[in-house]
Amino acid sequence: MTYDAIILGAGINGCGIARELAERGQRVLVLDKGAIGGGTSSRSSRLIHGGLRYLETRQFGLVREALADRLELLGRYPELVSMRPFYLPIYRTSPRPAWRLWTGIKLYDALAGQHNIYRSRKVARKRFAREFPALKREGIRAVLRYYDGKTNDLALTKRVAEDAQELGCVFREGVDVQHMAWDETGFEVSVGKKKYSSHILINATGPWIDEVTARYHLPSRFHIRKVSGIHIFVDGLLTPHPMFLQTEGKRVFFVIPEPERDQTMIGTTEREEPGRVDDVVVQEKDIDYLIREVNAYLVPDHRLQRTDITSATVGIRPLVEQKGDATDLSREYELDLHTRGQTQFLNIFGGKLTTYLSLSRRVAKTLGIKKIVSIALRA
Ligand SMILES: Cc1cc2nc3c(=O)[nH]c(=O)nc-3n(C[C@H](O)[C@H](O)[C@H](O)COP(=O)(O)OP(=O)(O)OC[C@H]3O[C@@H](n4cnc5c(N)ncnc54)[C@H](O)[C@@H]3O)c2cc1C
Repeated sequence: MTYDAIILGAGINGCGIARELAERGQRVLVLDKGAIGGGTSSRSSRLIHGGLRYLETRQFGLVREALADRLELLGRYPELVSMRPFYLPIYRTSPRPAWRLWTGIKLYDALAGQHNIYRSRKVARKRFAREFPALKREGIRAVLRYYDGKTNDLALTKRVAEDAQELGCVFREGVDVQHMAWDETGFEVSVGKKKYSSHILINATGPWIDEVTARYHLPSRFHIRKVSGIHIFVDGLLTPHPMFLQTEGKRVFFVIPEPERDQTMIGTTEREEPGRVDDVVVQEKDIDYLIREVNAYLVPDHRLQRTDITSATVGIRPLVEQKGDATDLSREYELDLHTRGQTQFLNIFGGKLTTYLSLSRRVAKTLGIKKIVSIALRA
């Protein structure tokens, strides 16, 4: 079978690119070794956000782009993406002063642009104490509230895949690509007895990208650093609204109630993983760490025990290799194009759930695939 483009990986980026190329008239095949959305795209914090904390590392371009994507996703999938208020209490012991966080939040509002109707504000301490009975009251200096998007990451990825399928894309899940060859005239990809060919191959395998380029001897100008993140889940709603909390070590983590599942999600952690992606598992020390951090904010009656944790997930962030601490690594993505004659091979390094729209458009532009312009002819 011959396609215009073959994509390896059906995470949010592979599905988003498939949809974008199909909309531009391309015949696209997506191959995944597992299930649609079964990788990092179903193990995220489920936020459609610019990333308030990336302002601290001055990733202004990324934040602005992600906030523009947030606005577009709110309009495109209102049943899957909605705005939620996030509360940020600042205690006497908090590592960052209130004025600094307030400045960051106001900048976040401004970067969201003039269409942003969700404005941040300060919340009275008494009101906060009334609404959040599980949270400690002593030592609170200020409480801030800002807004961000919340989604169901797996449902969103599957929805984007469905949209791509409606435009004619073919998805094959649970496949092992045994052999891949390419020259100036095209690619040939073998799955069992089937052979697929195309002029374009896109490697959108997220955290597996380095393992894939090594296995199939594909070229690559970058590498990724694999940084795992764990979330723990408890039954019921620990807080009425999501919270953005700081650790003593200056990290931040979220407590996110999910009324639709009657559970609360807490996370995340950050640890560099030197081994193979498939070997990374949740470690007891990560669960203990998150329980300790959240308990530091809770009154004794609401503190969590190990037995309260109903499940835990681990995902791997595919971050473009650069120097520095895992927490401070940039979330920007890189498109790595290699051309041989008529053949184009593109590696996707990095890319957040939120930014799949702008990433997909950039991929189309990089490959020189233009939008279809329809001209209405008058009789
Ligand atoms: C803990 C954590 C929290 C996060 N929170 C957020 C958040 O709140 N908001 C946000 O915007 N982003 C968040 N992110 C980032 C975001 O989730 C990821 O960057 C994004 O999901 C990556 O998508 P992807 O499509 O590139 O990779 P993946 O979703 O991992 O997809 C890669 C796919 O490739 C497939 N694959 C692997 N090897 C092969 C092969 N040999 N052949 C074929 N297929 C293969 C896999 O099966 C997988 O389905 C978070 C990440 C983590 C880890």
